[in-house]
Amino acid sequence: MSPDSYKIPREVTRVTSALEKGGFEAYLVGGCVRDLLLGKTPKDWDVTTNAHPDQIQELFEETFYTNEYGTVGVVNEDVDDKTLKVIEVTPYRKEGTYSDGRRPDDVEFGVSLEEDLARRDFTVNAIALDTHKGHVVDPYKGQEDIEARLLRAVGNPNERFQEDALRMLRAIRLGAELGFGVEQETFVALAHNAVLLGKISKERIRDELTRTIMSPRPMEALLHMKHTGLLPHVLPDLLRGEDIEQNQAHSFPVMEHLLRALQHAADKDWPLEVRLAALFHDISKPECRRKSDKTGDWTFYGHEVVGSRVTRKALENLKYPKHIVEKVVKMVRWHMFFSDPDKITLAAVRRMVSNVGQDNIWDLLNVRRCDRIGSGKPKEQPFRFRKYASMVEEALRDPISVAMLSIDGARIMEVTRETPGPRVGYILHALLEDVLDEPKRNTVEYLEKRAVELHNLSDDELAALGKQGKSRSEGEDAKIVEDLRKKHHVR
Ligand code: ATP
Ligand code: MG
Repeated sequence: MSPDSYKIPREVTRVTSALEKGGFEAYLVGGCVRDLLLGKTPKDWDVTTNAHPDQIQELFEETFYTNEYGTVGVVNEDVDDKTLKVIEVTPYRKEGTYSDGRRPDDVEFGVSLEEDLARRDFTVNAIALDTHKGHVVDPYKGQEDIEARLLRAVGNPNERFQEDALRMLRAIRLGAELGFGVEQETFVALAHNAVLLGKISKERIRDELTRTIMSPRPMEALLHMKHTGLLPHVLPDLLRGEDIEQNQAHSFPVMEHLLRALQHAADKDWPLEVRLAALFHDISKPECRRKSDKTGDWTFYGHEVVGSRVTRKALENLKYPKHIVEKVVKMVRWHMFFSDPDKITLAAVRRMVSNVGQDNIWDLLNVRRCDRIGSGKPKEQPFRFRKYASMVEEALRDPISVAMLSIDGARIMEVTRETPGPRVGYILHALLEDVLDEPKRNTVEYLEKRAVELHNLSDDELAALGKQGKSRSEGEDAKIVEDLRKKHHVR
């Protein structure tokens, strides 16, 4: 193929030309070559060269080191396109022994292109392309594997996974992104070396998990992780639902239901938080499952409360950022809302919005859609959904949080002579309950008068009212979990 048949941006050829003019070799390599051969637009551009790190830096005005392996980031000024702003140039290198199953003990420069390609993970990622002559270097027959849509380890797969165990998750993630299968011998090596994933940092695992979940095929990918034994090192909680049959309303065991819910979120191209909430929403059904004495069928009381805690632990363990954890936990906690638009009151919808928060309400409705589709139920009739959505719109116009009340803590203390402390919080929450029932009550006159009445209640009476915000506080959730444990003598 001629170089013109690949669409290579000027910013990239500027870098390879400068290297060649400086008397060095320069090739595109890795994901960008793979994507070009697949006819896709690469996400980033990696150049490899026989120049050493200091020689690379001398050739370009603005550069910086991007990692400890000699990769130099070449900055293209006056370029807005994020994928072209920095072109990474990596010297050919060979990696020493891997004694920890994660990183090479040392790296060696001054080796050949062929040796550099040998250290790469999969054959489809070990192809180099000379952008000027259009000449391809492909010692591991990566082009054949691209044709066959297969991920095959470069060299001996067992050895390659023992060097760096993260490559196992990369295989599954790349497979999910590209729609490729894993070649037989490489697949067997996944199963054989799965336990080595225990050596890999949570952050690296999380990044691969996120990309897997954001791919078009997360369900299939997570099933591969299950079959190869990688899943216990990534999402151990999910496995507990494997053979947990549900009640008559559900067609699938818990784990399959969660995977189907996640897949629906991916089919809809919904964001990470929705996908995670879909994947976790019933995570604690296994430990909350009991036979009903009355019907003889399974019940799952409290699974959303226990599940929100399990979700928090799992996501924190994977070092997800706090804003993601909080949002997903909230949606898991409140996924059991009642949504029949013919029977529900506006006050109930207001409470729902108040619980999950205005910023999360629309995403929560999408989690509900995933839940439905993931149970094998037919699609929600659009007019019912629209009716419910319009009730949510209406509820959003009313005050739904303490901050939206026409009174604040300071004013409450003025009119009631309460001293600072939990009683002021209880009064605020009790006032919110009143306003959730009837938004017209959100006036200074009403709230001040009602605050004085509340002030006259005993501590116990007031606490009971203030907490009515239906287990809205963490403290109340703790009590629900406690009661569940007592009742069922668990944990
Ligand atoms: P994408 O950019 O779409 O994630 P990519 O293949 O470019 O895919 P990068 O993480 O950017 O992935 O890595 C660039 C190249 O470096 C890969 O194509 C591969 O050749 C090599 N590589 C990356 N990580 C590893 C690894 N853990 N072991 C061996 N080679 C790796
Ligand atoms: Mg890349």
